[in-house]
Amino acid sequence: MSKLVSLAKRRGFVFQASEIYGGIGSSWDYGPLGVELKRNVKDAWWRAMVHERDDIVGLDSAIIQHPKVWEASGHIENFTDPLVDCLKCKGRFRADKLDDARCLEKPSKKPGECGGELTAPRRFNLMFKTFLGPVEEGAATAYLRPETAQGIFTNFVNVQQAARKKPPFGIAQIGKSFRNEITPGNFIFRTREFEQMEMEFFVPPAQWEQWYGEWRKLRQQWYVDLGMDPAKLRLRDHAKDELAHYSNGCTDVEYLFPFGWSELEGIASRTDFDLKRHSQFSGKDLQYFDEQTKEHYVPYVIEPAAGCDRATLAFLVDAYTEELVEGEVRVVMKLHPRLAPLKVAILPLVKKDGMPERARALEKSLRQRFTTFYDEAGAIGRRYRRMDEVGTPFCVTIDGQTAADGTVTVRHRDSMQQERVAEKALESHLSAAMAAWSRGAR
Ligand code: ATP
Repeated sequence: MSKLVSLAKRRGFVFQASEIYGGIGSSWDYGPLGVELKRNVKDAWWRAMVHERDDIVGLDSAIIQHPKVWEASGHIENFTDPLVDCLKCKGRFRADKLDDARCLEKPSKKPGECGGELTAPRRFNLMFKTFLGPVEEGAATAYLRPETAQGIFTNFVNVQQAARKKPPFGIAQIGKSFRNEITPGNFIFRTREFEQMEMEFFVPPAQWEQWYGEWRKLRQQWYVDLGMDPAKLRLRDHAKDELAHYSNGCTDVEYLFPFGWSELEGIASRTDFDLKRHSQFSGKDLQYFDEQTKEHYVPYVIEPAAGCDRATLAFLVDAYTEELVEGEVRVVMKLHPRLAPLKVAILPLVKKDGMPERARALEKSLRQRFTTFYDEAGAIGRRYRRMDEVGTPFCVTIDGQTAADGTVTVRHRDSMQQERVAEKALESHLSAAMAAWSRGAR
């Protein structure tokens, strides 16, 4: 992890937020390459969940919702973690995660092992409170959403009618959520501000089991399709006592991070709890009317809820590779080309003989299609290594032969193999190579 965190900073993936002021606990800023990577993760999710399906539509709901939303959802009452204080070192810890926590005074020990007494656990609500308008009082209290899902439930009828959808159908949303986590940590794995990719799939009650099974499979496969090592992915079914009282099934997609197996995403079967509660609290009818059977019913919901930052971290961890090449360590980010922040680097072999001009012209034309990067500084081998380190799948070199026969060298990141390709055919050649990429071949 420490290698990855330092690479992320050095190469512009992720910076500590407010670093010049000493940083602020658990906030991170995505740099030029990080923002591209994260956008690619979100695009891949949106494509798989919305664009490639005819039964899911999108939504972008507000972060600040009516406070009643959080009463109805149960967040005001129940969205709590058990908090304990150490009376000696003054550390605050999640009572259910003491094994993962470290004493503030003696970081090699667990909370309480410094000899300090731990208080009895008390419930700490994770929602961030704020006030609407200029008055800071109870009536103006609002919350930053701790999940995007509730904006989907409150819009169920709007979306269903506007998009003329019939269960089974889903509503997908990507957006920021906020949780005042007691113990954030592990880089961008657990933060207080993060992005979620959530989808609520509304089904006729009798079909919940079938769709729950389907989404478990599909969501695990999504990570594999984007190049993640299948051996480091698993599904973990929640035990009965882990389930919320309204839920009849929940599975986590877990990834084997350097700090152990941890949740990437949860797939929850939520029954008709959310729609019923919102119906009860708002007084509005949130049933679906089936024209064919003339039946009114409240759909059941299957919810795959993923974290965008966690997925981004997992893709980075999974792609990070060190190889010994001619006695030197080569660091390569073997990211799926779809996720790679830069797709193609264009490199003139030397800074003379018209090579930079030709390379710049080529870069300008490829830029219409791919994210590109132009680099003429330093020895070619070092330039290749710089691109390897940020996961650029292809380097294109303009050399002496280019002027003579119109061909360029394409160098592949994973195999380091080089081939000559006609400049004219380059765009289609690169597209085909990207489409043909597979984890096995990397
Ligand atoms: P955890 O048990 O790790 O706190 P959770 O089960 O409370 O997570 P959910 O409410 O199911 O999480 O949220 C869905 C997804 O949102 C999680 O699988 C995770 O990827 C992401 N997520 C939740 N909390 C955070 C956080 N504090 N920082 C980053 N991502 C988060």
